[in-house]
This record gives sequence, structure tokens and C-alpha cells, in this order.
Amino acid sequence: MSPVTTPNASAAALLAAIPDLAPYARRVTLLRPRSGRPTPLDSHVGGPLLWPADEPWPVCEGPHLVEVREKLSEADRETWQQIDRAMRERRAGRANAAYEITQAEAEAQTRIMDGAGMLDMITWELVRRVPEPAVPGVPLVAVLQLRAQDVPALPWPEGMDLLQVLWCPREHSDLPGQSYYWGPSVELRHRCAASVTGALLQPPLPVDAVASYLPRPCVLDPLEVVDLPDGDELPAGLLARAETWAEGHDTEYHRDLSCQEGWKAGGWPSWHLTDLVPVDCPACGARTRLLLTVDSGGDPDLSVGRHGELRVFTCPVDASHPFRLNLQ
Ligand SMILES: [Zn+2]
Ligand SMILES: [Zn+2]
Repeated sequence: MSPVTTPNASAAALLAAIPDLAPYARRVTLLRPRSGRPTPLDSHVGGPLLWPADEPWPVCEGPHLVEVREKLSEADRETWQQIDRAMRERRAGRANAAYEITQAEAEAQTRIMDGAGMLDMITWELVRRVPEPAVPGVPLVAVLQLRAQDVPALPWPEGMDLLQVLWCPREHSDLPGQSYYWGPSVELRHRCAASVTGALLQPPLPVDAVASYLPRPCVLDPLEVVDLPDGDELPAGLLARAETWAEGHDTEYHRDLSCQEGWKAGGWPSWHLTDLVPVDCPACGARTRLLLTVDSGGDPDLSVGRHGELRVFTCPVDASHPFRLNLQ
């Protein structure tokens, strides 16, 4: 085994101690973005893509979710406030009691909400998010560009050595093939860098973007390490052995050895918000593999999900099958 020089040296020691874990070990490239001025030839976050001058820049035609607000009538506002008062009075003097609502009050609230997602109790407006087609289309923005030599852990289609990730920086839900998803719509492009000539210098500017979906330009400092899966993906006995080993070596399986954090290519997804959600290929049903993780915060200063991670999963059987998105 090669000298232990990586930050998760203990993963190598763990694998040596418990060889049954070896089939679960995956290479991951931690991308480690930091503010900088990347060029179209670099791997980077949020910088200029190596893009053929004669290839149209992609646009999203929506639909996008737009917020529609509607003032509550005086009568409905009065009814809502009466229900609030009644609930507070019933609870008065019982500090730890739950608020109780009568059947009639609940029905009145349902009628007033009228299917809206939220009631703004400062402005007394009903707030709905409704889908609206984008005319003209919204130009996508560059999120990530990776060159094969920087991320050897990734699978590459024959002849390709450049991966570009773009997204539409607005809110989408129910994208085709993406269930329970709310966020930017993502596109992946694989290219052969040498075949891109006459590169496009000025892509169109985004329109009405969600500010937290516009990454700040960063250069990368890639580092390849070993990643191990979330405990939920391991047989119980094997997980117990890994945890016991970790305790004996002053470390912790969940915190230090599995599901490396931050922007990364390859590796294992963590399931820290939900239980394990197997993400299957919509074309062939195979269990997909984690391709990329986009993280919130840090120098790129994005915020996806609830300031969480956006993960792109691809089919291990056929790279041309559609990818899946997941927020955590
Ligand atoms: Zn869009
Ligand atoms: Zn597939």
C-alpha cells in the first residue's frame, strides 16, 4: 500500500484492518474551491467554460416557480385572528400544553388558505408559487468545469476529458425524471478539450437569477482520498466492526471516515437529512452512483436546498442514461 499521506489516512488503516470493507471503498476527488480567477482551460467553479464559439449557449424554457401574493379580505383576516385568540385562550395557564384547534376552526383555516402554500402574517397575504413558462428562455450559468487530469476518480465517456455543469439559476420543481426536487435545473456536457476551437468568450448574462444560485469564481485544489459509505449502506455487522475499529483508533466512522464533505467528484453521498433514498436510473433501474456533490457556503458562496448539498447521480451501466438530482 502506498504511503499514508492523505487527510483520511485512517481510511487506509481501516481498510487494511477490515478487508471486507474494500468493495465499499471509492476514490473521491475533494475539489476544495477557493476564490480565484480561473481561465477557460482550468478546472474551476463558476468561471468561464471552454465552449465552442459556434455552439448555442443553452437556455432554460422553464416553467419557473414564481411567487404570487394575494391580499386576504378583511373578513378572512378577522376570522384568522379570532381563531388565534381562541387557541391562545384555551391554552392559557397551561404552559406545556399543545394548542388545540376545533374542527370548525380548522375548516375555516383551510377555506381561507384556499390551497396557498403560505400565509404571510405580516402583510396578510396568501403566497402561492405557480409555474410560469420562460419566454424568452433563461441563459444557464456555468457552475463547474472539470478536466479529466484533475479528477481521475470520475468515469469518462470514450474520448472525453472535459465535464461542464451548467444550471438555470431559478426555482424549478417536478423536473422530468427528478422526483421530490426543488432547485436549479442542471445540464451536463462532456467534451474533448482539444476539439474546442474558437472558444466563446462572453456567455449571455443570467436574467432574474436567484442570487444564491450564482457561484463566485473559484479555482480548485483537487485532492484524491478514499471515501467510505454512509452506515446505512453497509451490512449491520460490517458497520459495527468499522465503528469498533474507529473507536479504538481515536476516530469516528461517521464523522471522519465516510461521506467526505464539501464539493467533490465521485465518492459516497451522505444521508444526514433523510434516511437512505436509493436513487435508481430512470432508464434501466440500476442503482446510480454519485458523480458530483455541489456544496453550500465557502468561497463559491452558493446555497442549495436548505443550505445543503446538491448531488448528481449517474447510471453505472450506461453513461447516456439520464442523470438524477438529489438535495440533502
Ligand atoms: Zn429554468
Ligand atoms: Zn441506466
